[in-house]
Amino acid sequence: MPRAILLTQDGGATHAQVTDLDEAHWPDAAVTVEVEYSTLNYKDALAMTGRGPVVRTWPMVPGIDFAGRVKSSTDPRFVPGAPVVLNGWGVGETRWGGLAAIARVPAEYLIDLPPALSTKDAMAIGTAGYTAMLCVQALEKAGIRADAGDVLVTGANGGVGGFAIALLARRGYRVVASTGRMEEASHLLAVGAAEVIDRATLSTLGKPLQKERWAGAVDSVGGATLANVCAATRYGGLVAACGLAQSMDFPASVAPFILRGVTLAGIDSVMAPLARRHLAWEALAREIDADTLRLLCPRVLSLEDAIDAASALLDGQIRGRVMVDPNLVP
Ligand code: NDP
Repeated sequence: MPRAILLTQDGGATHAQVTDLDEAHWPDAAVTVEVEYSTLNYKDALAMTGRGPVVRTWPMVPGIDFAGRVKSSTDPRFVPGAPVVLNGWGVGETRWGGLAAIARVPAEYLIDLPPALSTKDAMAIGTAGYTAMLCVQALEKAGIRADAGDVLVTGANGGVGGFAIALLARRGYRVVASTGRMEEASHLLAVGAAEVIDRATLSTLGKPLQKERWAGAVDSVGGATLANVCAATRYGGLVAACGLAQSMDFPASVAPFILRGVTLAGIDSVMAPLARRHLAWEALAREIDADTLRLLCPRVLSLEDAIDAASALLDGQIRGRVMVDPNLVP
């Protein structure tokens, strides 16, 4: 029987455990996938620990992304054995997700894996790398070119941050990485940052307009940091905001937007249309190399170990990405 992390709720507390489940338990949908790899994302960690209201129906198999091979399909677009990848669509929130040996989802949620990527590569990239690519593509679409000036990446030692640094550096941007873990500065330089700054310099709310420093930014932390980043973005710059690792709040003024023409671009990977996903994954397949994946996603955990790692991830104690192999027995 397929193994899965099953989340249940009891008196308001969330319990996570690895269980063998008959396939008949999986809710009905067109395509059943043998999951080869999934990942542990910030949102999965919130779901598994109960530290954030991510799960909408119980019981739930968490896991907002996975890559694997089609096992069976009632939709002719997906034939058995075909490699596929899934990000978001509420999987792991409203519908059983990827932290299991199988997943069953609507065909519209899946995209064919680009041939250059293995299922392991795809999940080493995962939702973090795909979201970072959406952020980078937003900067490019706005015309923020590599010679425009410094681009800031916050949450640099996180999954999104690491990929944003690598993708921007590869395109020739001068990347400034902001982190709370200055002891990891050499790692961030190896990933592609030109300079590393302490996130404490950004985390307390400053003036509504500050010295113009950033041509653009990728922000995965929100809160006062995001407000400060907008306040210090140069005339006509763009800030791609995708996360809330510091806070959901946005204690900003309109000054950067109405006086400097700064754009705050919201980035959502979960419900992004298929065409945008294809563009992002095709670009990832072209641009991400094996060395970068080794640097940014150094570990593969079992389902059991993923449960143990969830709190550490939320506490900012894990550098980079965590892949999960649902068939790995600890
Ligand atoms: P990680 O947990 O891998 O990284 C988050 C990083 O944020 C940490 O490594 C840390 O970086 C930094 N951080 C943590 N706490 C704070 C704090 N209090 N103040 C400032 N910085 C902090 O998460 P991901 O990279 O996977 O995701 C980052 C964010 O993006 C999350 O909020 C997640 O929910 C969101 N996200 C959104 C998506 C979307 O579609 N919009 C998709 C994917 C993720 P360091 O140690 O370097 O300071």
